[in-house]
Amino acid sequence: MKDCIFCKIIIGQLPSMKVYEDADTIAFMDIAKDVDGHILVVPKRHYKNILDCDSVTLGNVMDTVKRISNHLTENCGYDGVNLLNASDESAGQSVPHFHIHIIPRKRNDGIDAWPVFNGAESGIEEIYNKIVMDADISCVIPGLKDLWFRQSLLSDKQTMSYNNAYGGTIAFPEEAWQGWYDRWIVNHENKRFYRYLKDNKVGFIGEIAYHFDDEIQKYIANIIIKAEYRGRGLGDRGLKLLCRLAKANGIDILYDDIAADNPAASLFLKNGFVEEYRTDKIIMFKKKL
Ligand code: 5GP
Ligand code: ZN
Repeated sequence: MKDCIFCKIIIGQLPSMKVYEDADTIAFMDIAKDVDGHILVVPKRHYKNILDCDSVTLGNVMDTVKRISNHLTENCGYDGVNLLNASDESAGQSVPHFHIHIIPRKRNDGIDAWPVFNGAESGIEEIYNKIVMDADISCVIPGLKDLWFRQSLLSDKQTMSYNNAYGGTIAFPEEAWQGWYDRWIVNHENKRFYRYLKDNKVGFIGEIAYHFDDEIQKYIANIIIKAEYRGRGLGDRGLKLLCRLAKANGIDILYDDIAADNPAASLFLKNGFVEEYRTDKIIMFKKKL
């Protein structure tokens, strides 16, 4: 990438003391002179950090990190290594090209490579409940180009049968994607939250969302599992995930107005929602998160 110092080092436009190079990665001495043997391992393709780096490249980088670490300890008189990485400016990243720092270590070398933290501000359980993950199902922000899945979800008759009272399927043509994306993903104003549910094996399986409804002044949840993936407890896991994420985002009470004949009512009851009121068309569920 133009203007990236590490990209310039990779193509030889800037000098470096190259320690190792293969097809996908390169390692060179860090110029900081802060500790003996400070090495940087970087992918040749430009990624900002671990957050946008694809997993194959990440694997290549880590293979190189291990190769160099073994070389340092087996051949160069070191006993161990510290691996350091800052991903994002918030974490102290100063060069926006993904890199892993290797700091070679000797027993009793007197180096303190562990960051000095300020002490935790919140209870460990509170943070745990916010960040605990489901190994099979993840929650991802769709890219604009991924909105074909939302289109297929909303246009699937069986999936949308719960919505029959309101017309069943919903058109989501490509012309509408950009406007929708700007509103829900880019400019969400903390009033709109939208994620795809992704099964690690199958791919996208549904959506979870909530938004603040200005008219009734409540946060309203939304969860749709594609019909072909129902009956496997995914709705339950998705709803639990949604409640946890809403709570993590500072929302106290989540509502959902589902069609009175929607069989998913039991899912909400099972997850601690209580019926606040019902009309002949809808049941309004409420949960204190
Ligand atoms: P970060 O703060 O992003 O984790 O680390 C960036 C590292 O890159 C720093 O340790 C810094 O010393 C190193 N660095 C910055 N510019 C150059 C350069 O032009 N050449 C080399 N070899 N290292 C650099
Ligand atoms: Zn770069």
